[in-house]
Amino acid sequence: MKITSVDIIRTVPPGEGIVVTWSPVFVRVNTDEGICGYGEAGVAYSSGPDAAVGMIADFARYITGMDPTHVEEVWNRLHRDTFWGMGGGTIVMSAISALDIALWDIKGKKLNAPVHELLGGKMRSRLRAYASQIQTGWGDTAVSLSSPADYAQAARDAMSDGYTCVKVDPVGFNKDAVWMHRDWNTRGLLTEEMLDVAYQRVAAIREAGGPGLDIIIELHALTDTNSAIQLGKRLEALNCYYYEEPTQPLNPELFAVIAQNISIPLAAGERIYSRWGYLPFFQNRSLSVIQPDLCNCGGITEGKKICDMAHAFDVGVQIHVCGGPITTAAALQLEAVIPNFLIHEQHHNALLQENIEMCKWDYQPVNGYFEIPDRPGIGQEVTEETIRKSRVITVK
Ligand code: MG
Repeated sequence: MKITSVDIIRTVPPGEGIVVTWSPVFVRVNTDEGICGYGEAGVAYSSGPDAAVGMIADFARYITGMDPTHVEEVWNRLHRDTFWGMGGGTIVMSAISALDIALWDIKGKKLNAPVHELLGGKMRSRLRAYASQIQTGWGDTAVSLSSPADYAQAARDAMSDGYTCVKVDPVGFNKDAVWMHRDWNTRGLLTEEMLDVAYQRVAAIREAGGPGLDIIIELHALTDTNSAIQLGKRLEALNCYYYEEPTQPLNPELFAVIAQNISIPLAAGERIYSRWGYLPFFQNRSLSVIQPDLCNCGGITEGKKICDMAHAFDVGVQIHVCGGPITTAAALQLEAVIPNFLIHEQHHNALLQENIEMCKWDYQPVNGYFEIPDRPGIGQEVTEETIRKSRVITVK
C-alpha cells in the first residue's frame, strides 16, 4: 500500500465561520488501493489555519510513496527528517497530527476495524462527558454571559441534557460580558471586585448543581501565577473538580508553584505538545490531569504514548476536544482504550449545526455519556459538500 496524494482542506475562511475565527483544517490522505483516511490539524480556533495548511503541504511531500500502515515509520520521518519536525510547536505538531490521524483511519479501514481495536481494545463501553465552556451558555447558539444568574442557568441547561459535570471560565468575560476587555486585567494581582465577580459566578453554578455537579474551572491562561493562586484560594470553598491552564505552559515550574499554593488539582495540555513537552510536567508532578489535543500533540501515535507516560505518574487524562468532528472522533477512539481516562470534553461548538454538518456522522452524548463508535478507522469522514466549499490544496 502506498500514499499517492494528500488533500489539505481549509474550511470556511475567518470571519465567515460559526464563530469569528473558526476554521477547521482537515486532511485526506489517498492511497493506491482506493482507501483514504481523514485527519485534522488542531488549530480550528484563533490563529493558525493558514500556517497549518502550509506546514501540512511541506510535510506531505516527505511521505508520498510511503506505506500508510507503517504509522511509526511515517511519524518518525515527519519528526526527524523534516528538520523543523524536531523543533515542535503548535503548527509543526498540528501538521504531524493531522497526517498521523489519517494514517490510523486508513489502517483501520484496510483491516475493517475501529482504531480502538488496533490500540488494544475497549476498556469501557461508554464515556462520561462534560459540558464545556458554559460561559457562552449551553445550547445550539453561543451567547456571552455576565451575571451569576445566567451562569447558573447555563449549568441547569447542561444538567437538563444529562451532564453531571460542566466547565466554565469565570474570568474571561468582564462585567459587561466583553471577552478579554483591555481594562479587565486578569494577570498580576486581581482586585477584590474581580475576585468577587469570578467567585459569584462559580458559586451560582455550585448552588444550581449542588453536590451532584462537578465544576471544572477553565482559565485559558488568562491568569498568571499570582492571580491564579489568588483566585484558586477564593474558589477552594466551592469544591472544584480541576483548574485548567492557570498560566501559560511554557514554564512548567510555575505550575508547580501554583500546585503548592492551592488545593484544586491542576490541568493543562492544549498548548503542550509531544512526550518531550509533557515530560517536565510529569517530573515536577504539578498536573493532576493532562489535556492533550490529538490534533496538535502529535496525533494518535503520540497521544497514546503521552497518556501512557501520564499513567506512570498517576496523572489522569481528559483529551482536549475543540475542533471539527474529526477531533471528536479521534478522541473517542483513544479514550476507549486508556486506563487513566477521566472524562470527555463536549465543547459548546460541537453543538453548533455548521460544525456538525462538516462531516458525515454526528456523535453526541446521550444523558452525558458517549457511546464508542465501532465504524472502521476513526469512524468519521469529511463530506464531499464540505470539500467542495473549501479551499483545497493537493500534494502528490
Ligand atoms: Mg482550555
